[in-house]
Amino acid sequence: MINDYQLQKTLRDNYDVCIIGAGPAGITLALRLAAAGWRVLLAEGGGREYSSLSQDLYACKSTGLELYAKESRLRYLGGTSNHWAGRCRPFTASDFALPPIGGLPGWPIPYSEIAGYLPAAMEIVDLPPGSDFEAINSGLGGDEFEPDRFLLSPPTRFAQKYATALEQTEGLDVFINCNCVDLEFDEATGNLAAVVLSDYQRNRQRLVARTFVLATGGIENARQLLNSESLLRAGIVSKDGLVGSCFMEHLNIDLGSFILKSGLAPAPREYFTTDAFIDEYKAGKGNVRAALLAEVQTYGRTAEVKHFLENLACDMGVASKIAFVARFSCPGDGLISTLIEQFPNLYSRISLLDEKDALGVAKVNVNWALSADDRHTIKCIGSELAKQWADMDLGFIKLNDYVYDTSIPLRLSPHAHHMGTTRMASSAQTGVVDSNCKVFGIGNLYIAGSSIFATGGASNPTLPLLQFALRLADHLDARMSAARDALG
Ligand SMILES: Cc1cc2nc3c(=O)[nH]c(=O)nc-3n(C[C@H](O)[C@H](O)[C@H](O)COP(=O)(O)OP(=O)(O)OC[C@H]3O[C@@H](n4cnc5c(N)ncnc54)[C@H](O)[C@@H]3O)c2cc1C
Repeated sequence: MINDYQLQKTLRDNYDVCIIGAGPAGITLALRLAAAGWRVLLAEGGGREYSSLSQDLYACKSTGLELYAKESRLRYLGGTSNHWAGRCRPFTASDFALPPIGGLPGWPIPYSEIAGYLPAAMEIVDLPPGSDFEAINSGLGGDEFEPDRFLLSPPTRFAQKYATALEQTEGLDVFINCNCVDLEFDEATGNLAAVVLSDYQRNRQRLVARTFVLATGGIENARQLLNSESLLRAGIVSKDGLVGSCFMEHLNIDLGSFILKSGLAPAPREYFTTDAFIDEYKAGKGNVRAALLAEVQTYGRTAEVKHFLENLACDMGVASKIAFVARFSCPGDGLISTLIEQFPNLYSRISLLDEKDALGVAKVNVNWALSADDRHTIKCIGSELAKQWADMDLGFIKLNDYVYDTSIPLRLSPHAHHMGTTRMASSAQTGVVDSNCKVFGIGNLYIAGSSIFATGGASNPTLPLLQFALRLADHLDARMSAARDALG
């Protein structure tokens, strides 16, 4: 049942699982666990619709590359799925097999750990059952690029699609306008004892449960951990430690422009780096999309965000900021955009500010920073693409100078794929969660969402984060069943 915490504050005292955040990750996990017979509380900070009261709690500072972190995320029931574009591409085995360049380890588990959850994750976002991720165009001839493969979700809006399930699933209590403002760690038991929930008048109450899951998105998951005084006191979290570091995005670089050879079909062309490319250039993965200007302005995220922001620009006071998604002023017949892998690096990070938000939670600074290895990836992808385009006689590509001259600042925009800030690893020395998504040093706190990604590859994050959420549901179900059986 969906309750409004502003009006109804009576909570049970015997929840098996408390999940914070009702975006794709939190909703998926909550429905699975409740269906398995557990008593689940799903606490969502926002309401049923967008409100500036809730959205303002996402305001943060940015000292690195501009992320538009307040405008791009959405803080209400359904989370950012309320305006995601629906592009889905799963990870592949090589994403999990190869360590990222830069010294940090990659995934501590093989891809086979999540592969089996792909069909169920596809169903959740309404991708046709059994459909292949088919190539959308032909290749370029060489070994370096293959045609990209992806599917488009309608896109699924989680609050709408799962409205009835959230209302009617037995054992599930959903509270909207119910903000998590603190995590209380108990050093004696090594467990999280409670989370502190707040309405918009700052009335706080503790909520005790057996198991807790943070599913508040790629920036907020780290913020919740960093904001907890008891976790800082216990040394589980430190202000300059791994929590919040390794923030990764997918890089949308304005690579340049192209002129298509006359007579060739004007449809967009999308390519993806092969494993042979990664091996040859010791670089990251990447998608490259060459599309005519008219296509760019009406496609995918650009169209989605444009439409959403047009409706909200006045209310939010962000009219000037929509320029980054709405204006394309480059010359030429077409534009080349990318979705390029960023390697994890410790300097790209979320950290806590002294300033508090309206509910008394510390705000964050986002220092989104690329490394020299990332510039190398961009340069290799750009130059190789231009070469192959010429070899194939497709036309002429003019790369922007910063692609091959890494001393010139890049022109890029974010994809709003926030990853890595509570990365998965085999030990607390190199990560925040273990291979079951449990926070190192805390017996009963788990994390769902792309903040657990050890590497981000060049695949859109939502389908994989759903696979991980389904795997986490199975793990929690097995663990809680074993604990119940042990009690007789
Ligand atoms: C314009 C745009 C286009 C995108 N397109 C794609 C795409 O094509 N393909 C793709 O794979 N991904 C895309 N994404 C990314 C996608 O939206 C995210 O990967 C996905 O929404 C993440 O799900 P989540 O549940 O982890 O987090 P979110 O969707 O961010 O949900 C987090 C939830 O937690 C709640 N919350 C936050 N703080 C608190 C708190 N303190 N207490 C209680 N609740 C809280 C929020 O209100 C929210 O409901 C896009 C994103 C944007 C912005």
